[in-house]
Amino acid sequence: MITLKNVRVTGFSRYYYDIYWEIENTRSDLQEYEFYVERSEAEAGPWVQMAGPLIDRFYIRDNEVPLISANRTLFYRVKVRHPMSGKVEYSDIVDRWGKEDKIAAEIIRLETMLFQEFVGTVGWLFPRRTFGQRCPQCWDEVLQKRIDDQCPTCFGTGFSGGYHYPIQFFAQVDESEMTEQATVHDHNQQRMFRFRCPASPEVRPMDLFIDSHNRRMRVVRVGGTTRLLVTVHQEIDAVALQPGSIEDSVPLHVDEEDLQTAGWRNYVNAQCLESAGVTPTDALGPLLGAYGYDP
Ligand SMILES: [Zn+2]
Repeated sequence: MITLKNVRVTGFSRYYYDIYWEIENTRSDLQEYEFYVERSEAEAGPWVQMAGPLIDRFYIRDNEVPLISANRTLFYRVKVRHPMSGKVEYSDIVDRWGKEDKIAAEIIRLETMLFQEFVGTVGWLFPRRTFGQRCPQCWDEVLQKRIDDQCPTCFGTGFSGGYHYPIQFFAQVDESEMTEQATVHDHNQQRMFRFRCPASPEVRPMDLFIDSHNRRMRVVRVGGTTRLLVTVHQEIDAVALQPGSIEDSVPLHVDEEDLQTAGWRNYVNAQCLESAGVTPTDALGPLLGAYGYDP
């Protein structure tokens, strides 16, 4: 099987992206392998095949890129298939922002560990669909708009399915103030949240975020830190969705039994071996005893 490397997305046009890839040197017969290029609006998919099968080619121009929105990132990956054995391999996922440098890579690694192991709580990001198949239930072809805010097929987004696949990740969610404005007509309970997370998954305004207590919020602002134009940290403002919103019915399937709000090391004594995932053996007692400890 051949190994893909150095996949990159370039282009200085609103109308196309150029995608290049390479392979590790090999003695395999290249004519036996098929390349496919897949694209998604979210880094966890679903993926749409843009090109392929390509044989002995290492470049395509994707001239169907929807690049008018400033808040949209397109992700690519290359798939290689060996039809005779049925084996399939994928490249890394890449976007127009390119590969991070060594320092950014280290920052991302440390940030990911910080949120996953120490300060973050588990949550799920639903990247919103912003192009593709119009909602078959509520999209009006004549008016060119959606006509049902409570549509259960697109959850008010106007695109079939509403959201891409959910991505589980760890974020530090700040507690927000509870507010209530009571008028003669209604009670308004607006609640703003702020949270921060590592570079991945990439969060975009209008995405849906669900935390481990099923608090559902709409992302309204995304900022962060970059290193050489590559994001290493994200700061996000979100607004809680009013109970009864159609987003309440977005399905999220989580295995509750295994669900822990934060990394397990937060619930164990850091000073004992349990925190390192080590169960003391019988041999440990005498050893510790030799040093004056009473295990
Ligand atoms: Zn709809």
